[in-house]
Amino acid sequence: MITRRLISVLYPRRCALCDKAIASEDMLCADCSVRIRPVGRDTCHRCGKELADADRIYCYDCSRKLHFFDRGFAVFKYEDVKESLYRFKYSGRAEYARFYAFAADRFIGRELRAIAPDAIVPVPIHRRRYATRGYNQAYEIAKELSGYIGAPVRDDLIKRCKNTIPLKKLSEKERKNNLKNAFIIASNDVKLKKILLIDDIYTTGATMDTIAAIFKEAGVSQVYFLTVAVGAGL
Ligand SMILES: [Zn+2]
Ligand SMILES: [Zn+2]
Repeated sequence: MITRRLISVLYPRRCALCDKAIASEDMLCADCSVRIRPVGRDTCHRCGKELADADRIYCYDCSRKLHFFDRGFAVFKYEDVKESLYRFKYSGRAEYARFYAFAADRFIGRELRAIAPDAIVPVPIHRRRYATRGYNQAYEIAKELSGYIGAPVRDDLIKRCKNTIPLKKLSEKERKNNLKNAFIIASNDVKLKKILLIDDIYTTGATMDTIAAIFKEAGVSQVYFLTVAVGAGL
């Protein structure tokens, strides 16, 4: 008990959204738990972006562009969680993954269980980035989510072999070229039918598409994804 108290003094639990120290076993502070809302019900049936027009099935991007993944889901709108995700990735707050997975299960758990993926696959980061960060943020979410939906985490199937330039600095064409050959698959015969990819953010889908295409080529028939956040749809 003393040890536990000491640990909580030295490393207080923090709100996974605003980072305020919280004393209890909660994942969020009282303010954030009232404020935070998941992505609305009317989402793009392909990429999971919230739709401004509920009568549409696909967002503007997905109605024009073919994706290699089958369907994606996001828990929150990027604007609502961007500071949290920044700390999660760049300030060592790996423990936020616990809340992200809890929220994913709470808001999208039914859909994820209906998919019943054979494996949960975190989007890999390059080993050099791993060395500086100390963890792969997508793996942390995948590991926590596995506890809710039961599918095993497989981070041995695909590796990132090239340290890519941050995508937001590039045009769409440059992104594609940059991503090409950035990943290497462990086997050309992946004996899984359905996989669920995990990442922190979905923006244009370039990363998800590249990975989905690689897995489909290797024989996976359905590729889904879940991200903590998604940008606004049209
Ligand atoms: Zn908070
Ligand atoms: Zn879409």
